[in-house]
Amino acid sequence: MTAMNADPIPLAQALMRRPSITPNEAGALDVCQAALAGIGFAVKRYKFGAVDNLYARFGAEAPNFCFAGHVDVVPPGENWSCDPFGAEIRGGLLYGRGAADMKTAIAAMIAASENFIAGAQRFKGSISFLLTCDEEGAAVEGTKPTLAALAAEGVRFDHCLVGEPTSEARVGDIIKNGRRGSLNVVINMDGKQGHVAYPHRALNPVTPLIETLAALKARRLDDGAPGFDPSNLEVTSIDVGNATHNVIPQRARARLNIRFNTNHDGESLFTWIKETAEARASAYGARASFSISSQSKCFYTAPGAFTDLISAAVQETFGHTPVLATTGGTSDARFIKDYCPVAELGLRNETAHMVDEHCAVEDVRTLARCYETVLRRYFATQ
Ligand SMILES: [Zn+2]
Repeated sequence: MTAMNADPIPLAQALMRRPSITPNEAGALDVCQAALAGIGFAVKRYKFGAVDNLYARFGAEAPNFCFAGHVDVVPPGENWSCDPFGAEIRGGLLYGRGAADMKTAIAAMIAASENFIAGAQRFKGSISFLLTCDEEGAAVEGTKPTLAALAAEGVRFDHCLVGEPTSEARVGDIIKNGRRGSLNVVINMDGKQGHVAYPHRALNPVTPLIETLAALKARRLDDGAPGFDPSNLEVTSIDVGNATHNVIPQRARARLNIRFNTNHDGESLFTWIKETAEARASAYGARASFSISSQSKCFYTAPGAFTDLISAAVQETFGHTPVLATTGGTSDARFIKDYCPVAELGLRNETAHMVDEHCAVEDVRTLARCYETVLRRYFATQ
């Protein structure tokens, strides 16, 4: 056992008191930079557009074990029982934006690194931090270009652990070793407006749109993939906005979302949607147009030595065995997976993005011990 000295809570509070709503870091990265530099990390900032990012590294050798996360938070909304940026502790609970998602995890990772470095006899390898302020937003000026810039500098990553709040009933019950991809598409079908009594002079776009959606829904995308449920398409809206009974509308529009596994990528799914709609449009002489409102890749880290190591650290620290899951929304791990195996482990997500977001103070401290155990086990095998 190493001596557990650094407490993550003051650092978590300092981070939570910076109102770093995407994409403004509002001093949160400065807090991280000061804390990391104080332990001996070499820290560099990477600015893309309005977004500030941070990369810090302790050591120069391989393997490079990276902790990743985001200091940005979603807007607080209204009706909090406390200051959303006050980081108040009440009854053993720490309240504020970022208490679950995910400033506390960053504080835990930094405290874990400090304690590991202080307690370790020399270890072979490096510990690094990849922190962004653009995860909750468009995520185009954050982790993705920072990784590309680091790769151009010759930086290599061996394994990465992201501190997203993956846990459900209790901390450490779930490790995310993958996330589904997501594709949001809008289909516009244009016909020709006219009188319902004279349909030969008009062209109703509703008919080819309905046939398109039926054809899309009729396809079974797959039967699942290792670690994943079957991919799924949902039509989320059909909009015509026609208040009359006697007018054939000019345009009909539909929105849909696909959550997909490793059998697919966003490009091929979009091509399929496009071709399906264009075929129905041309059969009626209508015109189809499209837009992608958002798209994210899926990631998957096959169960193996890396996930076993994290599971063992959870078992050692929390006393229960976590399950691997690929459910839930997206995360920056979808970018990191192009560089090294990546998994996610963090606090409970029950109050993430909610009013009165909070976490248990002791959970943050235990999570820090768990992250330290990950480091100890990781570098013990090198
Ligand atoms: Zn998050």
